[in-house]
Amino acid sequence: GVRVRFAPSPTGPLHIGGARSALFNWLFARNQGGTFIVRIEDTDLERSSRESEENILAALRWLGLDWDEGIEVGGPHGPYRQTERLPIYQRYARQLLESGWAYRCYCTEEELAAEREALLARGEMPRYSGRCRHLCEEDRRRLEAEGRRPVLRFAVPSGETITVQDLVRGEVSFDVDGIGDFIIVKSDGIPTYNFAVVVDDHTMGITHVIRAEEHLSNTPRQILLYRAFGWPVPQFAHVSLILGQDRTKMSKRHGATSIEQYREMGYLPEALVNFLALLGWSPGGEEEIFTLEELKRQFSLERVAKNPAVFDLDKLNWLNGHYIRQSPLERITDLAIPFLQKAGYISGEVTPEQYQWLKQLVAAVRDYLTNLSGITRHVDIFFAPEVEPEDEEARAVLAGEQVPRVLAALAEKIRSADGLNEETARSMLKKLPKELGLGARKVYLPIRVALTGRTHGPELFQVIPLLGKEKVLARLARAG
Ligand code: GLU
Repeated sequence: GVRVRFAPSPTGPLHIGGARSALFNWLFARNQGGTFIVRIEDTDLERSSRESEENILAALRWLGLDWDEGIEVGGPHGPYRQTERLPIYQRYARQLLESGWAYRCYCTEEELAAEREALLARGEMPRYSGRCRHLCEEDRRRLEAEGRRPVLRFAVPSGETITVQDLVRGEVSFDVDGIGDFIIVKSDGIPTYNFAVVVDDHTMGITHVIRAEEHLSNTPRQILLYRAFGWPVPQFAHVSLILGQDRTKMSKRHGATSIEQYREMGYLPEALVNFLALLGWSPGGEEEIFTLEELKRQFSLERVAKNPAVFDLDKLNWLNGHYIRQSPLERITDLAIPFLQKAGYISGEVTPEQYQWLKQLVAAVRDYLTNLSGITRHVDIFFAPEVEPEDEEARAVLAGEQVPRVLAALAEKIRSADGLNEETARSMLKKLPKELGLGARKVYLPIRVALTGRTHGPELFQVIPLLGKEKVLARLARAG
């Protein structure tokens, strides 16, 4: 069966591109009834941290992606953290050494730099000369006596072309002569990415390698390793770059790039999943809204695009707005509460009465939201002790000749109402224009400005019960 993996390096948060790779692997596995594995590639000891690892795993779980084998969940091919697999890499490195596919190289940084300089001076591509390939036992002993500790290099065969049938990119060929004997184990015994990834993908039985396009150039090195071991080569699918609106590679300049940042801004996981899926994949047709279930059913590598995907924040906002409106009110309320707390609008434990009120509040404003952090902009008027007309236009509305009469009429109704809810508010508002002999706009606009300070906003029949009798009467009196 299909076995795929997501293999993040825990050197930072989970980025949009990594999340998309994880999602495509997950969707492919789920669509094919296969196995999805998460492996941690932490051989860059300086840049890797447990904190990043945990953040990445938390972000995957938040997106709704689960894994069948791997870090934390375990499985028959563990350990799933590369720094815990060093004896495995050593064993396979020895195998290549013994079969002649690898050799010890004692060159120092200085010697390699000098070699590089000389090649560049001659106008040639810098690559390792293979100088240590044919050292005899005596040379080696002498160099080790100098205190040099060797790296292990792969002996790249010459005059070959490697052709990859990439499931996204089609046929891609590489001239092996350009590669140079690359390092597979560093002098401290830590394997390099290309070596560790091949040993892991093979020993974990990976059938399809779905990853970012930036790794396409590593693929010929990896294929050389598979061949040297005599192992079957998995299928490759290299997913295109993600570009910003200006068509350059997506980076921090373009705004938030990590999943965590989007979560903190109040994006919903299902909106991000929907958005990420469409970054390079499309089922064909006009439909743009997909649940994880639907994606699972429809996903295929054939429909992953070859050209780069463009990150369109407006589209993410549109999708997020959609899911904010569609989700159960309680869920959105629960998600909004932390943002209201952070803004200082509410504090302490939320009481059941307060929760009911918050639900109404969220119901009144959620149509305007593209993310939940944006809620604070829309609800300030409900928490402020009083409001002022926010601009010239609003001030002009309150200066109207009929305004005192309108506000007084509403105040009168509010005062005599014995319960204030959406229904009673709606019916008193409805009667006003006729009773006052005025057009709807002449009635509702001054009321809106008196109650909110603004000329636009949520429905008045929602605003009134949210503010409550006291605040409504105070604001009407103040503005009238
Ligand atoms: N650790 C690599 C990365 O994060 C994984 C590359 C691969 O999937 O082979 O880019």
